[in-house]
Formats: sequence, structure tokens, C-alpha cells
Amino acid sequence: MTVSQTTPRVGISACLLGQPVRYDGGDKAQPWLIGTLSRFVTWVPLCPELEMGLGAPRESMGLALDPATGDVRLLTTRSRRDLTGLARATAERLLRDAPALDGYILKSDSPSCGLARVPIRREGGRLRNAATGLFAASLRERCPALPLVEEGQLRDPAQRGHFLTRLFAAHRLRRLAPGGEALRRFHRGHESLLLSHSPGHCRTLGALLFGAEQRPAAVVRAEYAATFAAALALVSTPPKRVHALRHLLATLRARLAPAEQAEALRVIGAYRQGRMPLHAPLRLIERLLHDHGAPWAGAQAIFHSYPQELAE
Ligand code: SF4
Repeated sequence: MTVSQTTPRVGISACLLGQPVRYDGGDKAQPWLIGTLSRFVTWVPLCPELEMGLGAPRESMGLALDPATGDVRLLTTRSRRDLTGLARATAERLLRDAPALDGYILKSDSPSCGLARVPIRREGGRLRNAATGLFAASLRERCPALPLVEEGQLRDPAQRGHFLTRLFAAHRLRRLAPGGEALRRFHRGHESLLLSHSPGHCRTLGALLFGAEQRPAAVVRAEYAATFAAALALVSTPPKRVHALRHLLATLRARLAPAEQAEALRVIGAYRQGRMPLHAPLRLIERLLHDHGAPWAGAQAIFHSYPQELAE
């Protein structure tokens, strides 16, 4: 498979891109993914059920509880054929052969691709919203740091922003040149973003880099990547963002005129109280950093964590 090196590589349930791979021969095409996100990423589409050799159309399937063991099984709806072993072996093969990915978008409710709340059926009733699809479960187990999202979550601006932030940050880190200096520069550029998600992880990463020359570079890079992903997986809240913005402002304190300092604090406060959107203090502080000659701070990823067009 030929894949681009310059845009994030995103695994995706193939039906979401309009491929006719569903059990009924149809698709679940998502206009925003096809029309907008496609311009910024390299897709790696997969249909786990098609890869099981079942063809399209095929008999539908669902998750069911084995009454004897309590295990979740993947069964065809009418003939009750148990496909659990085949599904797991196929997922293992697909994930072993896949290129390195920066994120994954999964189809909700699918017994193969659903990330959460996939219905489990049992005799005489239905346990609702209970499970993860078998492919999604294998993906999560094999790639615990990979940003995962369902297509429905991307309709919510906050969840979409969180996924895109993680996706593009993962891509920047994966594309980073080898060596400790590149990693230290990366960390400096992401400090404010990290603070806005998890001040604790940010401190841990700083400590990891301190004295990292004494340890094998590959080990440091792997530890950094895992902790970095864990930090960004935590939701960024207004109080954490305010903390990050004040931290950035503090780097300029000696250079700011009193009126500039007061205005910046006023705008940060207005954001904290919900009277201004986040981009108001972000743009103001970015301009102040630029005007007062603080290039390292102005290059912080928090200002442009993903392409602006994707926020609209
Ligand atoms: S949800 Fe997953 S298994 Fe189902 S059609 Fe889409 S890609 Fe295939």
C-alpha cells in the first residue's frame, strides 16, 4: 500500500468513505469526512467483515452473549454461525500488516467497528449499549495510544476538536527527526498544549527529557510518545486552558506594558467566564508574543493544533 508521509494517516471504517461494503451492499458515506477531512489526511480504509472473506452483500451479524460462558460472541443473525474466531484472527492480521497510523475513525453501533455502546443480544431480550465491536476491541488492545473516535462524535465541535488535536499532534511526533534535540524542540513547542490537557503529564515529560542523554534514544522516544498520547487523551477544560494561557503570558511579563497585561488578563477572564470564545485570548496572546519578539512561544502548537478549516 502506498501512503503519503506528509499528512496524518487515518484508519477508517471503509463504509464511512462511501465504499459499498456493508452487509446490504450499501455504505454509510459521511459528507464531512469525504468532502473536507479528505483534503488533510491520507486514508487507510478497511472493512473488517469484508476482509473476513464474507463478501458484500452478506448475512447480517451481531454480538450475542454466550449463556454458558458469559463471553461475547459474533453471530450471524439468521443462521447463527459463530464468526468470533475468524473475526479475531482477521483483525490480528489486518493490524499486523497496517502501516503506522496517527488516528482511527470507526463506524458506531457495528458489531465489528463500534467503539462503545454496541448492542448485545440475548435470548428473549436485548442488553443495550453494552460492548465494543470485535475489530475495534483488537485495535484498542494493540494500539492503546492511538486516537480513536466514532463518526457520530465528530459532529460535536468539542469532540471533533479533541480528536483533531490528538491526530495532528500524533502525526507531528511520528514525523519528528531522530535525536534528542528534535524531541526537546518538539516538547517546547507543545508545552502550552500539554498544559491545557494535563499539567501533571507535562511535568512528567519535562522530567523524562531532563538527563535523557544517559538513556537509549529509542527508549526515551517510546516513553515520551506513550506519555504524550496519554496527556492529550485527557479532555482540555477552560480552567486548564486558562492555566496554559497565563503560563504563556508570564513568559512576557517583563516586556508587556501595563495596559497590554491588563487587556490580556481581561480577555482570559472573559473566556474563563464563558463570555468570549477560546480563539479571542489565543489570538491576542499570539499577537503579543509576536510583537514582543518571543518566537519560541509564538510557535506553540496550542495556537494552531490542527488546520483552521477543520474547525468550521
Ligand atoms: S461498519 Fe465496519 S464492518 Fe461494517 S461495513 Fe463498515 S467497515 Fe465494514
